[in-house]
Amino acid sequence: SGTSGGKQKIFPVNNKFFEDMAFIFALRSSLISKHIEGDEKGKVVMLFFAREQSITPCGLPISTSVTGYLLSDSFKNRPSNCFTSPDEVTLCPDLKQTMYCHLLCGLRQRDEVVAMAASFASSLVGAVTFFESYWKEICSNIRSGHVSEWITDLSCREAVTNILGGGNSELADNIEEECNKKSWKGIIPRLWPNVKFIQSIVTGQNSQYIPMLEFYSNKVHLFSPAYGSSETMFGVNVNPLCKPEDVSYTFMPNISYFEFILADEGNKGEIVDLVNVEIGSYYEPLITNYYGLHRYRMGDILQVSGFYNNAPQFRFVGRKNLVLSVNLEVTTEEDILKALNNATLILQRSDLLLMGFTSYADISTLPGHYIFYWELTAKNISDTIKPDNKVLVECCCVMEESLSALYREIRSKDGSIGPLEIRVVQQGTFNSLMEFSISQGASPSQYKTPMCIKSSEALVVLDNNVLARFFSDKSPPF
Ligand code: AMP
Repeated sequence: SGTSGGKQKIFPVNNKFFEDMAFIFALRSSLISKHIEGDEKGKVVMLFFAREQSITPCGLPISTSVTGYLLSDSFKNRPSNCFTSPDEVTLCPDLKQTMYCHLLCGLRQRDEVVAMAASFASSLVGAVTFFESYWKEICSNIRSGHVSEWITDLSCREAVTNILGGGNSELADNIEEECNKKSWKGIIPRLWPNVKFIQSIVTGQNSQYIPMLEFYSNKVHLFSPAYGSSETMFGVNVNPLCKPEDVSYTFMPNISYFEFILADEGNKGEIVDLVNVEIGSYYEPLITNYYGLHRYRMGDILQVSGFYNNAPQFRFVGRKNLVLSVNLEVTTEEDILKALNNATLILQRSDLLLMGFTSYADISTLPGHYIFYWELTAKNISDTIKPDNKVLVECCCVMEESLSALYREIRSKDGSIGPLEIRVVQQGTFNSLMEFSISQGASPSQYKTPMCIKSSEALVVLDNNVLARFFSDKSPPF
């Protein structure tokens, strides 16, 4: 798919793609209105980012799917505009200026805001960390009614100046008071007191951000709205109030022609149509869209969890080829997430929170071993990050105990897998990793932190920022 496979791919699309996206957005809004009272009267801090388009030698524009949508008539002529940011902010090609202005406009209209949204949860967490560095400047802009000089995109600057509408020192004081408090727990509803829900994809790779978002949002409801890709939109979550771990997506049969490759253990390869999928079975979607004579294999694994009327609903399981392995064992995305969830329970006992992680199967030395890169933050923003050796070593052990029976056997019995390692990296490292991926063509709106790293250049970004290393100190039981 577009950016998720780790390298950029190019697909032909036509207006139908953008109409489908607009249809899915409209459907999401009506589902929210059905379940969450009063949301239609308020505004949304929508963290959309556009990138500059490039042009093929024969003159066709190339852009990421979100950028394509933001530049299309479907976005321009959307039936209602409930975003706090003017389009000039969303369309500004400079990521940093856009992020700053999204937050500035959102805070200036704080009392009207009922939701905060981004395509993927990583952008929301990124927005909070960005705000940690810029809140003083944002407050000073609100106080004076004057936008910082480094916002040089003229149309963006003009639109934001209009939104500010002059200085407002009372609002600046209130925001400063919240930011000066010791802990940033619940900072989102503290900044936007009328916020009713947070909307972004929190399934698959993005489930790693749930604990962070719950911390920043004080458990304001998290709504994971839809499943889509650069190839096609698939479906929506028709039950916005369900818990993040129970999210399923109901497929929209009118959007593309959907087929499914059976991926059940020992029964792989058979292809069935949407009407023939069976509850409980695992599938990889195969899609034929309306934009060209292509049939795409998605590389995602889904499990049928139920039906909405006759439309099948799918739980997102993970990316198919995303595995760690240093010997005969196969560690899937689901295994990694399970191990991580168990380790975060240990981490919760300390003052630290996991901001981001990725992993790597290091076979450069024998025996090979798993490395997890962790970026940590302190619950109290002013505290320095002091990872406790005992806690981090226990996290390593708990992760190993959570991995597959084969991993544990190889690691414990014949020692062909070395002790699992956690490398704690400096704050901001995962931001640098995102910036590196964007410089390689990834889309800022569609960026997902890879659950495991394959690129040696990306590894250099991580390894240059390592603060401390911890190893598991015992073999896991098997
Ligand atoms: P892209 O490659 O940037 O077009 O992104 C599409 C990919 O993002 C999909 O193939 C999935 O791997 C992932 N993705 C999109 N929506 C979801 C979702 N709701 N839950 C989990 N992963 C998703």
